[in-house]
Amino acid sequence: GDIATGTDVVVIGAGPGGYVAAIRAAQLGKDVTLVEKNAYGGTCLNYGCIPSKAFVTASSLAHDAGNAEEMGIHADPAIDMAAMTSWKDGVVDQLTGGVEKLCKANGVNLMEGTATFADENKVRVGHDGEGQGSESIEFEHAVVSTGSRPVQVPNFEFDGEHILSSRDALALDAVPESLLVVGAGYIGMELSTVFAKLGTDVTVVEMLDSALPGYEDDVARVVRSRAEDLGVDFHFGEAASEWEEMGEGITVRTENADGEVSEFGAEKALVAVGRSPVTDTIDLDAAGVETNDKGFIETDDRARSNVEHIYAVGDVAGEPMLAHKASKEGQVAAEHIAGEPAALDYQAVPAAVFTDPEIGTVGLTEAEAEEQGFEPVVGQMPMRASGRALSMNESEGFVRVVADEPSGFVLGAQIVAPEASELVAELALAIEMGATLEDVAATIHVHPTLSEATMEAAENALGHAIHTL
Ligand code: FAD
Repeated sequence: GDIATGTDVVVIGAGPGGYVAAIRAAQLGKDVTLVEKNAYGGTCLNYGCIPSKAFVTASSLAHDAGNAEEMGIHADPAIDMAAMTSWKDGVVDQLTGGVEKLCKANGVNLMEGTATFADENKVRVGHDGEGQGSESIEFEHAVVSTGSRPVQVPNFEFDGEHILSSRDALALDAVPESLLVVGAGYIGMELSTVFAKLGTDVTVVEMLDSALPGYEDDVARVVRSRAEDLGVDFHFGEAASEWEEMGEGITVRTENADGEVSEFGAEKALVAVGRSPVTDTIDLDAAGVETNDKGFIETDDRARSNVEHIYAVGDVAGEPMLAHKASKEGQVAAEHIAGEPAALDYQAVPAAVFTDPEIGTVGLTEAEAEEQGFEPVVGQMPMRASGRALSMNESEGFVRVVADEPSGFVLGAQIVAPEASELVAELALAIEMGATLEDVAATIHVHPTLSEATMEAAENALGHAIHTL
């Protein structure tokens, strides 16, 4: 029969949204039960951020070592994909083990199983596969952090062999000879770069007419042209419609807007066309929690759903679907539950794409600043004028800073450069602190570093850059 328990806070899903909410609520003295059906750390640690970045690093190391003749290095690295994957697994295990330890050390009750709402103060936890009855937990507050899953393209069911999800692509034991990537969003572009650097013949088909939709043209162009240099072959305006097995591999058919059909052969296809929230499997109706037409739970600036004591954080709570956004929402939800004055502020949520070069953005673009009624001024520094970028042999891209001219306040930044994911942090802090262009320009940066480009871009916006014309 049912085992019934009670808790102050039940958190459903132990990804970067849920585990942070659980730990923070426990730190603030709440009795917390964290329910996870699969693996601690969620998508991010197990199948997303961390494994993809492990492969970004390993593939770059292999590629760079094999392409450094100009620097006097003659090497021809051999790739052992099984060993690379098991190294990646070790990194993941270390981090997921760490999450479990942190939860326990903070007194979070961990429960394995699948949670569904029974009513607005009760969840049921089923232990699938074990044939046991369910438990029910009465709660005062709940945090929904069940994350997202890949969008399925019709006719392209993931089978782990021919049609891969990003998760499958991060668990291969051999480098595919060729790969057709469906979707040129950030996940498709990161993984295209990884496999191109490992020597796979990569073709990308994208329904829209450019790579990295959502990013400004000049930013996306730098990444696309570098990917082309790595041998990635792009086909825009093509929608994947069906596929069949062909010899050892597959043939994928695509259709353009005029209904013309093209065919692409490859060993495997990776389908990465976006992700949708996991909100349809947890009986939200039983608790009265509403979702919008895209399946997201709409929340207020305290991360509360329409049902005041039920919070939603992370990918279920809408774009941007990013781990650090999930964690911040989890923290705010926990603090608000514990009666602390906490609120969400999305003005300075940075985003990164770990392509070659990387992209890092935060705040407003020039066009967005204009739309919002600012009088934007823009300053830019090309990486080819950076001593450090040249000495790293990676001089493509730029740092751009957007500010409000009358007040000088920094409003945003678009960086496409080596280490852009790190460089963007300085400008997120600038926005968060209400810094002006003068503040950024007056800050002494180490020479020679990539971060000098940020100072220089601010000087450029002020009209007195030294190294930029
Ligand atoms: P998740 O991490 O998805 O966690 C949800 C958890 O809930 C899962 O563990 C799931 O098993 C569990 N769960 C679901 N339903 C139930 C239930 N009914 N009962 C119990 N448990 C349940 N983001 C970045 O910021 N940077 C990156 O570099 C980055 N790279 C990515 C690369 C890839 C290939 C992918 C796929 C994603 C990447 N992301 C990245 C996105 C990031 O992974 C997500 O934004 C993040 O994981 C969202 O966290 P979350 O807590 O909302 O959900």
